Amino acid sequence: MTLYFLLAHQCTLRQPGLASFNPDEDRILLVEEHADDLWREGHQHRIVHAWSIQRHFAQSLHPNEWPNVYMKKDRFEQGLDHAMADSPDASLHLHWPTDWHLRERLKNWIADNPAVNVNFSEETGFIIPGKDWESHLPQNGSWKLDPIYRQFRKTYNILMTPEGKPEGGAWSFDKENRKKVPQDLTFPAPAIPDQDAITKAVIDEVSAQFPDTYGDAGTFGQPVTETGARQLLAHFISHRLVTFGDYQDAMRQHDPYMSHSMLSAAINASLLDPMDVIKEAEAAYHDGLAPLNAVEGFIRQILGWREYIRGVYLVSMPAYQEVNALGHNRDLPDMFWTGETRMLCMADTVTGLLETGYTHHIQRLMILGNFANLIGAKPQQVSNWFYTMYTDALDWVVLPNVLGMALFADGGSMSTKPYVASGKYVQRMSHYCKDCVYNVNEKYGPDACPLNSLYWDFLERHEDRFRENPRMKVIYKHLDNRNEEDLSKQKDTVASIFSRLDGQKL
Ligand code: FAD
Repeated sequence: MTLYFLLAHQCTLRQPGLASFNPDEDRILLVEEHADDLWREGHQHRIVHAWSIQRHFAQSLHPNEWPNVYMKKDRFEQGLDHAMADSPDASLHLHWPTDWHLRERLKNWIADNPAVNVNFSEETGFIIPGKDWESHLPQNGSWKLDPIYRQFRKTYNILMTPEGKPEGGAWSFDKENRKKVPQDLTFPAPAIPDQDAITKAVIDEVSAQFPDTYGDAGTFGQPVTETGARQLLAHFISHRLVTFGDYQDAMRQHDPYMSHSMLSAAINASLLDPMDVIKEAEAAYHDGLAPLNAVEGFIRQILGWREYIRGVYLVSMPAYQEVNALGHNRDLPDMFWTGETRMLCMADTVTGLLETGYTHHIQRLMILGNFANLIGAKPQQVSNWFYTMYTDALDWVVLPNVLGMALFADGGSMSTKPYVASGKYVQRMSHYCKDCVYNVNEKYGPDACPLNSLYWDFLERHEDRFRENPRMKVIYKHLDNRNEEDLSKQKDTVASIFSRLDGQKL
């Protein structure tokens, strides 16, 4: 007999190890984790997502074809102990997770149970085999997404012409994907599934058991089955992909999804296979449902960024989790948990996150990440915040995105310059500034957008590192053009911003 143990994000029959499952002897083992310290600091939607997926998956397994054992324990290790005590001669089959801390927990359990025969498979959920990343990302090389993405396009024959050229004559249409949204344009809402009886029961339990966590379990709206995830995908491809490209980098108040797919939580939880998602998008282009800039832009996120991020994690852990190249040491302010700030871009982003457990990429990178970096927040506190507050968070996707892309805390191993910006960027890509109490056109004083002087302050603080960066030379020229009076006003403004930040009055 073999027990096939699946973690909460591994609930699919597409897991490769299950190919050898024999229903006459074997069992699938699922353990719902309830320990307070696993969930306490985070968003309620994360818990609802995990438990509801596990319960739906167990319910979908026909007892004759996929006999299974379902347990509720504080931690999955107790479930493994319990299952092995019930079947002492059983072998255990694991799907090796990408997340380092999950691997460590499994390794520790195996070390404590040397008599158990354990087999492993790689977990599903990715296109590039984990072992290939050592050669894609050599330790002494400089890492760039573009050449890797081109290689993957060729290898998997995605958006390629019969002559072996990229569709449309270019590998990327990113430059066409930076439009601001016209005020009167509306996007079709994503096909968020209704809560069924299982999800409603989970919501009640989570609300009762974790009253002090963040968000409201009752507003949960993510697919929790493969069918629900496929419906969300099909609706996105037919109705929403068409504008994904043009407005990929845009932001708008009260509009957390815009043209984004909202598929990350479903893909990360194995409800959708990433290559299936890519194929559906590619077919939409060939069927004339969406233009190339939208389809290529979307495919680049999954075949390019998502795989690359995982590769960076695999080759950089465990040292990566400790990086702090810029030496930042400020605590994150309360506004990250409450949304209480007069800065409209921050307030709207955090409020949207509390309601949905989601924000789109540019809000993560250019609102939350940018602000955390400009104030010099501790990188590990920031990554922990992202990990605990987002429904789609797993360690492998959080650390490179937060520490590498958003904070430059890895010293630039995955990006050549930090993604920092003043209020001008927010003004260009959103409508936030026109309704904000702060004035984006002011540089100094109590009414000026705080991002403006924080941006210059960041550049000054890290001048030694960035002045000679070829992509930042022009910015430092602007910095040099300021006179003594400007410098003094800037100093006073920054001091006032930090004092208001500490007093929760920004
Ligand atoms: P879309 O914009 O519709 O993109 C399509 C898909 O591409 C996504 O569903 C996702 O699977 C993939 N994708 C796009 N960008 C990335 C990326 N940089 N890394 C990995 N996959 C990507 N993504 C997560 O899945 N979980 C996280 O916890 C997470 N944390 C992030 C934190 C920060 C600071 C930043 C800058 C990015 C983070 N991302 C994370 C990446 C990205 O922001 C989300 O994948 C995306 O916003 C999810 O929304 P969506 O499904 O509507 O994506």
